[in-house]
Amino acid sequence: MSDRTHTSHPDIEKVLLTERQIKARIAELGAQISRDYSGRCLTMVSVLKGSVIVLGDLMRSVSGDCCVDFIGVSSYTGTKSSGVVRLTLDLRENPEGKDILIVEDIVDTGLTLHYLLENFKTRGPRSVETCSFLNKPSCRKVSVPVKYVGFDIPNEFVVGFGLDHNERFRNLPYVGVMRSNGGK
Ligand code: 5GP
Repeated sequence: MSDRTHTSHPDIEKVLLTERQIKARIAELGAQISRDYSGRCLTMVSVLKGSVIVLGDLMRSVSGDCCVDFIGVSSYTGTKSSGVVRLTLDLRENPEGKDILIVEDIVDTGLTLHYLLENFKTRGPRSVETCSFLNKPSCRKVSVPVKYVGFDIPNEFVVGFGLDHNERFRNLPYVGVMRSNGGK
């Protein structure tokens, strides 16, 4: 596992979070979630596509009973949010009566998470909580509760560890800031 804070990737300006930092923090979140949901079956809902990498590590660090489902939403084109959130894929299982943990890659304006929370309210889960790998608190347009936060980061467009730019860079094992002319 790498703790390198430099990258030779031509599109990445700097490494913001190293692989080692990320793994350590996800393990902490997993331990906290395990304690909070002790004795209950948790359903993690991964918001596609950005959260799938963090989901894999998070699920494996949760010790209790845990199921997974996926939901797809879209609001971004390139590096800009359109402000209009749309469902691109619905859950496979009915969330009614379940303890749901929404797992996001990043909360920026908050519009996506707000949309999802409103959506879940109408579907009768036993509980709904939220987890986001990254959080940009300075960018909020709507206030949303994020119970489990991996890292608060500044207002920069980041890629890697699941996060993309036009579908690229999800496979980077770290989180990096893209060069302003990157991804061309
Ligand atoms: P929000 O609705 O909170 O503005 O944004 C949520 C979605 O926007 C995220 O799930 C993610 O897909 C995208 N997003 C927001 N900020 C960034 C960023 O810095 N990098 C990347 N790659 N995606 C972002």
